[in-house]
Amino acid sequence: VLKGTGSGVLPPMLEQYVALRDAHPEFLLLFQVGDFYETFGEDAERTARLLGIALTHKSSKDFSTPMAGVPVRALDSNVERLLAAGVRVAVADQIEEPGGGLVERKVTQLLTPGTVTEERHLTADENYLGAVATGDGYALALLDVSTGEFRCAAFHTRTALYDELARHRAREVLLAPELAGNAALLADFQARFPVMLSPANFDEEGARRELKTVLSEVPGSLGSAALVRACGAVLGYARLTQQGRLEMVRRVVRFEPGAHMRLPDAAVRALEVFTPQSPQGVTLMDVLNETRTAGGRRRLRAWLRAPLLDELSIRSRLDAVETLTRVPDLRGAVRALLYRAHDLERLAARVATRRASPREVASLARTLDLLPDAVNLLGDQDGLLAGIRARLGALPDVVTLIRAALVDDPPLRVGEGGLIRDGFHAELDGLRSEALGHRAWLADLETSERARTGIGSLKVGFNNVFGYYLEVNGPHLGKVPADYRQIATLKDRARFTRSDLREREREIARLEAAAQRLELEVFTELRDGLSAHAEALAEAAGALAELDVLAALAEIAVACGWVRPQTVTGAARLVQARHPVVERATGGRFVPNDADLGPHRHTLLLTGPNMAGKSTYLRTVALCALLHQVGAFVPADHAELPIYDAIHTRIGASDDLAGGRSTFMVEMSELAAILHGVTHRSLVILDEVGRGTSTLDGLAIAQAALEHLHAAGAHTLFATHYFELTRLEADHPGLVNLHVAAEEDEANGLTFYHQVIPGAARQSYGVEVARLAGLPAPVTTRAAGLLTALNAGGDDRKLLRELAALDLSRLTPLQALEVLHRWQREA
Ligand code: ADP
Repeated sequence: VLKGTGSGVLPPMLEQYVALRDAHPEFLLLFQVGDFYETFGEDAERTARLLGIALTHKSSKDFSTPMAGVPVRALDSNVERLLAAGVRVAVADQIEEPGGGLVERKVTQLLTPGTVTEERHLTADENYLGAVATGDGYALALLDVSTGEFRCAAFHTRTALYDELARHRAREVLLAPELAGNAALLADFQARFPVMLSPANFDEEGARRELKTVLSEVPGSLGSAALVRACGAVLGYARLTQQGRLEMVRRVVRFEPGAHMRLPDAAVRALEVFTPQSPQGVTLMDVLNETRTAGGRRRLRAWLRAPLLDELSIRSRLDAVETLTRVPDLRGAVRALLYRAHDLERLAARVATRRASPREVASLARTLDLLPDAVNLLGDQDGLLAGIRARLGALPDVVTLIRAALVDDPPLRVGEGGLIRDGFHAELDGLRSEALGHRAWLADLETSERARTGIGSLKVGFNNVFGYYLEVNGPHLGKVPADYRQIATLKDRARFTRSDLREREREIARLEAAAQRLELEVFTELRDGLSAHAEALAEAAGALAELDVLAALAEIAVACGWVRPQTVTGAARLVQARHPVVERATGGRFVPNDADLGPHRHTLLLTGPNMAGKSTYLRTVALCALLHQVGAFVPADHAELPIYDAIHTRIGASDDLAGGRSTFMVEMSELAAILHGVTHRSLVILDEVGRGTSTLDGLAIAQAALEHLHAAGAHTLFATHYFELTRLEADHPGLVNLHVAAEEDEANGLTFYHQVIPGAARQSYGVEVARLAGLPAPVTTRAAGLLTALNAGGDDRKLLRELAALDLSRLTPLQALEVLHRWQREA
């Protein structure tokens, strides 16, 4: 039951602990004991390890068990650390004043990484709980309890599912029994995601009930049983942790994975959209994030995760961004306004579940107060901006009500009182003024009693034991009136009370308690009233987030001189394109480059020395394509881009240490995914394919892959150090050699120009780069010598190939002599 030593008879408190812990088997139970939250037994050992706190022992006469605890006031920060470590936490509080026997305790909070809603446990980013079930393919449900966003989708392949889950960075993933029960599958999931083996209910009937409870129906759009089960499982689990309150979830949106550009997780990582590849690195998101609200930031991330395929939608975003770039006053005013907004999406969710604190309701009012101004600002806009204006304007006026009811700076919690404004509620006003009357009487008491008794030094004091008392010092004790009753004697003075003093005090306490209860009632009514507008609040919050993203994209476009891309078919043309992140890092020294892809040049083979800028060029093209389909301007002087159905990348060598696969294996499986998924409408970026194996293997694989992509007709940019590949240009129409300019001379060694120009590079400069990097001179000299020898070896191979190709049955003796003669000349 509980790890420990002794007779095994648990003291009653530990019995209670074990009972509560067993009722929540998936959670780490923090059990209040006075000023501490304690854990016992194995849980104590785990907690001590996770939190780095001391392990002690709880010992009674015949039992001892490990114990570790945190002070009550440090609960939040420790819970945060546990959640960050992927631990689910149950908090059991003492729910009665400690008296004689065993204190009653109850689990008051269930906190899990994917379902927390308290602002103090959350970052501003989205916080998804995911659930996966199978049936016909894979069904995924994603719920952000902090905003009520609820989405689901079906996938044909596990890879597609993994990509979606990774992109949403689900903090907690629930697996249906058919998945969790398969050890290999479970391990595979666990290596990638924070999988929780949980009490979630994936049973179809239960799921239907759950959907009916929360959404009042089982939406027809769900279709398959697997989707119903996944959706029901997240709702059930979330409802458990939210103690039943899930009103912020109003609908489930089924999204079609195919409705957006395919952007595999490998591409998101390689392009450093959200996470840098080196710890100090900068991401695309960092460069783009000119948003001013948390909601805007989340929305921008959502747009980056799901680039559009539909030309009209792309155009309407671009139109809105363009308007905001063209009218600096509008952009400035919008951004100034957004700067003052609170996280409306989360506030709306808190109001919907009737959990908002007085302070949150006040923040809500402050933010809603901005909306009429926003509506005015967008007054004569059309398109997306007009839609945003309409959604911002649709909210009934709730601010006036909140303002009338709440004081300007209400306290954090309801219980503290003093949150309802005077004059809002007659009965409350009555209670308050009555209490105030008594207090005034008390305040006057000193003066009036001094006059009555003639004791000039008489004082009215207060302490926690006696409450209010009258204090008289030694010389005057004789003048104390008959209605005083002595309650304490000190060295040189005495303290008294009077029966009416006690009465007044009790009266004040009664009135204030009643006022507090009434305040709570009034506040609850206000909050319930607001929750009726939850839908409109969520709409307005979404519109505000969208406006924030559009204004941010406009801001960055203006600040960095980006252009509006034109959507075209079949070709891509970039003039003076820049890599948004590298450009920032290199200051003014970035060298822009052009790119030109089309039916007659859809495969670009890029050669050039290491460090010349090949990768940067590849990524520049891919990032421009991504930004275009997000609806953003792109870092170039001119841009024409097609709508790509996917961006595939295979860049750099990274070991999948967690997955236990070698670099080469990772590379090949990524390549496999690309070759299977590519279409003539895809953009493919391949960097140094084949590097992870021997030269000949690598070359062979690289060439075969390149030929396959070329035949598929995809727009392919292929950077390689295999110069042999440049020969392919001759007999592959549409395959074009490019190289990055570099120059080697005796005096300066190697100079990089970062300029992409037509034609194949002359040589690899590998040894020269090694010299630049500081390899000792004897080593580079030896390498140069070896290189010459190897190149000569290459000639041998060429000769052998030619020999093997000779058709001796047709060769005349004279021709044979000619061949021999040529070989001799070349040798
Ligand atoms: P490669 O792929 O050819 O090895 P990279 O693209 O990784 O080269 O570039 C190496 C470094 O050169 C980058 O880190 C960057 O600092 C710099 N660089 C690359 N392209 C440019 C450019 N167009 N202008 C200025 N600096 C560049």
